[in-house]
Parts: sequence; C-alpha cells; structure tokens
Amino acid sequence: MKFAMIGAGAMGLRYGILLQEAGNDVTFIDTWQPHIDKIREQGGVYVMRDHKDRHLTKIKLETPETFDGHPDMFIFFTKQMQLQDYLDRCQHFFHKDQYAFTAMNGMGHIEKLQKYFADDKIIGATALIATVLPGPGEVDFMGKRGAGKMNMCPLNEKPDATCKELFNQLQKAQMNPTLTDDFTGTLMTKVIFNSVINTICTMFELPMGEFGNFPGAYQMGRQLIDEAYDICARAGIKLVSSRDEEMAALDHNTRIDMPLHYPSMYQDMTKDRPTEVDYINGYIADLGRKYHYEASTHLFVTQAVHLAEIHRQNL
Ligand code: NAD
Repeated sequence: MKFAMIGAGAMGLRYGILLQEAGNDVTFIDTWQPHIDKIREQGGVYVMRDHKDRHLTKIKLETPETFDGHPDMFIFFTKQMQLQDYLDRCQHFFHKDQYAFTAMNGMGHIEKLQKYFADDKIIGATALIATVLPGPGEVDFMGKRGAGKMNMCPLNEKPDATCKELFNQLQKAQMNPTLTDDFTGTLMTKVIFNSVINTICTMFELPMGEFGNFPGAYQMGRQLIDEAYDICARAGIKLVSSRDEEMAALDHNTRIDMPLHYPSMYQDMTKDRPTEVDYINGYIADLGRKYHYEASTHLFVTQAVHLAEIHRQNL
C-alpha cells in the first residue's frame, strides 16, 4: 500500500518504518524544523531498540508544503493539540478516495478528521506500543521486535477491503492488530487506561513500574476507572474491557510489560511541551458533565497535571 505519515514523531516513525520494512511505499510529512533539518543532514533517521543497535534508516521526508503525492491512506500521528494545524497545512492534498487512519491517544481527533474525510474512510485505533523520540532525527522503539499490540475499528464499524488490507500490512509489520467491532468503545477504553497511567506518572515524574508497585496504586487507579466507567455507562458507550479487566491490564502493563518506561505525556512535560491531559482526563470530565456526572477525580487530575506543567516551565 501507499502511505503518507502525517507527523514523523515517535509513533509516526515507528509505524512508518515498520510498514516500509514490510514492503509498503511510505512518505513522512512533518513540520518540526530541527527534526527535518537533522534527518536531511544525516540522510535518514537513527533508529534504536531499547537504546541499542543505533542504525541509520533512509526515509522519504516532505513538509505539507512540498508533498504532492497521492497515497491510499494518511496515517495521523500528531499530538492532539497539533492536529488542526497539520490538517490546515495538508488539506490541499487530501482527496475523496483516500483513507485516514490514526492511533493517537485521547479524544477530539476523530471529529477533526471528519471535516476532511468521509466517515467510511476513517479508521481509528489504539496502540499499546511504547516509542520515544530522544531528539531530532532519532527514534527509540521500546520493546523487542513484535512487542506491543493494537486495536483498530473503522468509524462505520464495517471493515472494507482497504481496512482489511491495512490490517494485513500491520500484521506483516508485527504491530499485532486486533479488529474490533465497536469504534467508540475501543477508543474510550484506551483513553481511560491513559487517564490513570499517563497522568499519575507524569505529575509525580515516575517510571510506570514505580506506580504499579506502589501499594496504593490499585485504589488510585480504581477511583479514576470507576468514575470513567460510570460516565461511559450513562453515555451508552460499550467499553472493550470490564472494570476488573482494565485494572488487571493497568497492573500488567506497569509492573510487567513496561516498568522502566515513562509515558509519552511525561516526555512532553519534561521537554516543556504541553501535555494531552485535556484530551484524556479533561475529555472524560467533559463527557461526564454532558450526562450530569461530576468526575471530580478526573477534574482534579487534569488540573494537577497542568500545575506540574507550569511548575516545570518555571524551574
Ligand atoms: P511526538 O511528539 O513524538 O510527535 C508528534 C509531532 O510532534 C511530530 O510532528 C514531531 O515531529 C513533533 N515533535 C516532536 N518533538 C517535538 C518538539 N520537542 N518540539 C516540537 N515538535 C516536536 O508524538 P508521538 O509520541 O508520536 O505521539 C503521537 C500520538 O500517538 C499522540 O496522540 C500520543 O499520545 C500517541 N501515542 C504515543 C505513544 C508513544 O509511546 N509515543 C504510544 C501510543 C500512542
């Protein structure tokens, strides 16, 4: 397949390079000038796995202003707050026959994509795949080849031939995809997962295992999970996991799968970038308000992460 990655950051590079290695034609589109300059100067991106085996991988890199290709599918991997700017700058090369796929965290991105792509051309996903961008021109794929997994579902919940072909290519690229049948439930289950780990590890500046091994982790996680699940029940959202399954996944992910990993929200905060908390805990709290439910813990956590952001910037 022919892909254009919109956003060549940590996840854009991981998906794009693995799809390229699986035999697809991939072009990367980015706007962060120091990253673009470094990739051009080096003749590619330095790729590592768990900080080891640093090697140069050639990629095709364009900016929204220079790209004039016609891919089958755009893959969006920007931070939530960057997406509208990318859409504004890229819209001149979007066409009706093209698909949009994304596994961004948080909520708010799908409504934005719907302004440019028809509902039957949008495929949403969630990824439990940890990747770090240590600096311009470098990416670190955390975990062994084939580590991590993802869920994906078309917005209209009817997988067509292109969706199935994408699934095959993601499988070849060892991203371990599962095709689910409930779009909103799939995305919200991951939002709720992130509303615990990303935020708590970010505000206390902890690797995930340190939170997972904390004796109070269950109680802290359960309070956030219960509020979010109560809200989803009121909103009629069918989540992919039960409350207990979500708690077990949090425990496994923090203590066993990625104990040394800092979530991407932490990486943003420590680089003085805004975090996605308004699109995660903030989104859950807003959804609660719509259904007359005060998500007081999510509201508290949203403000606590903003306080941590401001504190960092003032250091
Ligand atoms: P990223 O920050 O690495 O890249 C996104 C964009 O920001 C790219 O255009 C990149 O060039 C640019 N960028 C990176 N560092 C920058 C800096 N210091 N200053 C200015 N611009 C910069 O984002 P990501 O980690 O690829 O995340 C994309 C989406 O995927 C987000 O919604 C994220 O929550 C989600 N996600 C990330 C991971 C992960 O492990 N990284 C896992 C699952 C989901």
